[in-house]
Amino acid sequence: MKTEKFDAIVIGAGQAGPPLAGRLSSSGMRVAVIERKLIGGTCVNIGCTPTKTLVASAHAAHVARRVRVYGVETGPVMVDMQAVKARKDAVVRASRQGVEDWLRGMNNCTIIRGHAKMTGADTVDVNGSRLVAPRIFLNVGSRPATPDIPGLSDVPVLTSSTLLDLELVPRHLVVIGGSYVGLEFAQTFRRFGAGVTIVEKADRLIAREDYDISAAVEDILKKEGIVIRTAAECVRLERNSSEIAVRVDCSSGPEKIFASHVLLALGRRPNTDDLGLETVGVHVNDAGFIVVDEELATNVKGIWALGDCNGRGAFTHTAYNDYEIVAENLLDGGSRRVSQRIPSYGVFIDPPLGRVGWTEREAAAAGHRVRIGKRPMTRVARARERGETLGFMKIIVDADSDLILGGAILGVSGDEAVHGLLGAMNTRLTASEFSRIVPIHPTVSELIPTILHELQP
Ligand SMILES: Cc1cc2nc3c(=O)[nH]c(=O)nc-3n(C[C@H](O)[C@H](O)[C@H](O)COP(=O)(O)OP(=O)(O)OC[C@H]3O[C@@H](n4cnc5c(N)ncnc54)[C@H](O)[C@@H]3O)c2cc1C
Repeated sequence: MKTEKFDAIVIGAGQAGPPLAGRLSSSGMRVAVIERKLIGGTCVNIGCTPTKTLVASAHAAHVARRVRVYGVETGPVMVDMQAVKARKDAVVRASRQGVEDWLRGMNNCTIIRGHAKMTGADTVDVNGSRLVAPRIFLNVGSRPATPDIPGLSDVPVLTSSTLLDLELVPRHLVVIGGSYVGLEFAQTFRRFGAGVTIVEKADRLIAREDYDISAAVEDILKKEGIVIRTAAECVRLERNSSEIAVRVDCSSGPEKIFASHVLLALGRRPNTDDLGLETVGVHVNDAGFIVVDEELATNVKGIWALGDCNGRGAFTHTAYNDYEIVAENLLDGGSRRVSQRIPSYGVFIDPPLGRVGWTEREAAAAGHRVRIGKRPMTRVARARERGETLGFMKIIVDADSDLILGGAILGVSGDEAVHGLLGAMNTRLTASEFSRIVPIHPTVSELIPTILHELQP
């Protein structure tokens, strides 16, 4: 077998692999990047980029339907799914090409297309060749989980990846799973004109959030005509002539829902089962995520795991931050740790939810005495001016230290405005200090200091 030596091997060209390859190669190392599918990984090809492109098309349709609110007249609104998909494909293609060009432009970096399997602590086999390096970085990501639902093998179902290829508007899309990915698709396809039902096992949507957030999100989606079936603990799929019957044996509502299309949005599992980790002795947990320490090193010397596959984050920005931690510690003598990262994410329904830090429940469970500030978007001038007043802003502050523990902005521009809180939390700005800044009027962010002035126990 042909053997080639490198200074570092990166498996997976997702969100951490390419920037890491860039840093390693520019520091003079010979680097191999192995990718079995599409450069750019999940986010660029089947995750963030295509979904946010579809969300934008859906938003355009939504605005077009309510233009009269703004005093504008237009004709009937039609959604051309082939054109929507073509636009999405073009944006994805350009993004992927950008990452590919960037990788190919790196000196000392070899891109190898194929499935990588570890055969030793410093050895990786790909396409019948053997690569050897003293440093191996696993950035293999994750894929949709397909839990064992009765009847699943009898009917065609869609995942978050295959739904992206639809060139028609489903008559009735049933989304199984009422969490972040499921909600984005549900609203997007509703706005394209599909009938949509969300089926969720828990007693509320996005059950990790506080109750008031779940309730407000449910309200937003229901207002658009989405049917929500929570507490659906007994989902079963059946073929029913040309349709799919989704049995939902819940306490209320019809027992069977007839779907033209079913989307399974039930979480993701790491791509670690075909990587040869058992041969090398790299530890994984029960769910298959690679166990890493604070600096993202595995239990085997010389092997690190970054991004979704280590279970320490499930977002593009967390994968990228993993790269920053590893690169700085390895190349710049840094001591960055993954626990220094403050959790943050967006749920890109419309209006979006921007979230940072702890929920109210988490803060209370951790033993904090909290003060809470809350304001409905109906009391935000910018939201009223834009005619988008759904949702609310909420900030959680530690009553003793006056530090901000978390926040949620569910409302127009909430995904952007929440960064003010993230900045304050990272710099340990107290609520009193933050409340003295002079923000720009009229913005959503300008209400953050106001809310901090009005905190209640
Ligand atoms: C529908 C959807 C929407 C999303 N929206 C957002 C969002 O809005 N914001 C956000 O922050 N995150 C979002 N995410 C999550 C985000 O896409 C992931 O967190 C991110 O892509 C993780 O990056 P990664 O580098 O860990 O892995 P990935 O991007 O998954 O990359 C891993 C790469 O490794 C390759 N690979 C795997 N095994 C091997 C092997 N053995 N040999 C060679 N190559 C291999 C894979 O082909 C893949 O290209 C979304 C995800 C989905 C599914």
